[in-house]
Amino acid sequence: MMNSKRTVAFHTLGCKLNFSETSTLSRMLESEGYEKKSFDDFADVYVINTCSVTDNADKECRQIIRRIQRKAPESLVVITGCYAQLKPKEIAEIPGVDLVLGASEKFNIVKHISEWNKGDSTKICSCDTEDISGFNASFSAHDRTRTFLKVQDGCDYNCSYCTIPMARGKSRSDSITNVLKNTEELATKGVKEIVLTGVNLGDFGKGNDGVNTSVSINQREENFYELIQALDEVKGIERYRISSIEPNLLTNDIITFVANSKKFMPHFHIPLQSGSNHILKLMRRRYLRELYAERVTLIKQLIPHCSIGVDVIVGFPGETEECFQETKNFLHNLDISYLHVFTYSERANTVALDIKPIVPIHIRHERNKILRNLSYMKSQYFTEQHREQTRKVLFETSDKNGMMEGYTDNYIRITTPFRQEWVNEIIDWKV
Ligand code: SF4
Repeated sequence: MMNSKRTVAFHTLGCKLNFSETSTLSRMLESEGYEKKSFDDFADVYVINTCSVTDNADKECRQIIRRIQRKAPESLVVITGCYAQLKPKEIAEIPGVDLVLGASEKFNIVKHISEWNKGDSTKICSCDTEDISGFNASFSAHDRTRTFLKVQDGCDYNCSYCTIPMARGKSRSDSITNVLKNTEELATKGVKEIVLTGVNLGDFGKGNDGVNTSVSINQREENFYELIQALDEVKGIERYRISSIEPNLLTNDIITFVANSKKFMPHFHIPLQSGSNHILKLMRRRYLRELYAERVTLIKQLIPHCSIGVDVIVGFPGETEECFQETKNFLHNLDISYLHVFTYSERANTVALDIKPIVPIHIRHERNKILRNLSYMKSQYFTEQHREQTRKVLFETSDKNGMMEGYTDNYIRITTPFRQEWVNEIIDWKV
């Protein structure tokens, strides 16, 4: 049996959701008497919260496990997260892995570690994706300036390239009451900015049992628009960001509300994935580029200084040079601020695997480079538009080689020499 005063170290791969969940798992173990260690130190227990969006993410997890194996072969290694849900057997076969916890068992980590005995063979604690239910609220508390608050999980969409619904299950969300409770708790901790996080955030309101998935947005008791209105009233939190929202779920009401809110920042991150309607259909996305352009136009009409970030995938099967040029030109003509460019990566059990023709890897990389250059120009131009303007910057805690960082309301990153009195303060800053 394991004794209580032990040490634990965490490593997180992937998205903001994973960071909020790791932070919650850490608090759960610390409240059981574990001492948290940095991942580079020795620890009795190592927990890796994994991602599986690309092959690289899987590979990175395997490399980390081997590293632990070399430095602390006697320690307990726990693997959780999307890779653990999608390929538990593959992970269990890696030497050094002791516990593999799927999506439904992630938050029972304390129980599973306490029941584990030295010498036990590797244990997989998981269930099939369709049996994943229940919602576990989470928030990151590692930095008291900006916190990722999980309010939604899972996804009911079926984009042809995506494994997330298989890794995280059906769409389900917290209740507005509970989100407000967590937000008030974060306000008492001095947090100034909350980043609302989920898998398909705009789908907030589906019951936390993941059962009543057939209820349309208007028929639900709660929805995302009501959530942000309620959050706007919470005392103590000065800034909110919507981490990402699907274009077809970004309603006029939400845009208008953000335009008039003092607390919701003028910053939207909206996945596009392709500027070619042919490719959007192959991807099984739920909109065409015209809707996307119309959303951007409305945002810029109501909030001219708003930052708009765009996710785009290059090299999707069937993406001819002509389709890619459509995407590049569409993005070029859009009044957006920056791009997150992803190279298409084949994922097991996805419909996209059957789509032809396949785009050669070197072409995918070339297209990625072209759009990254476009992103650089867009962000330069966006910052240029705000030069000499005074914007409110929330400076973060960390002192990086004598420098500190912060973001303006419209997500321009500011770096300046470190000043203690500016930590976690909102400062009027001349860009
Ligand atoms: S909306 Fe599509 S891409 Fe996003 S998580 Fe759901 S299935 Fe995946």
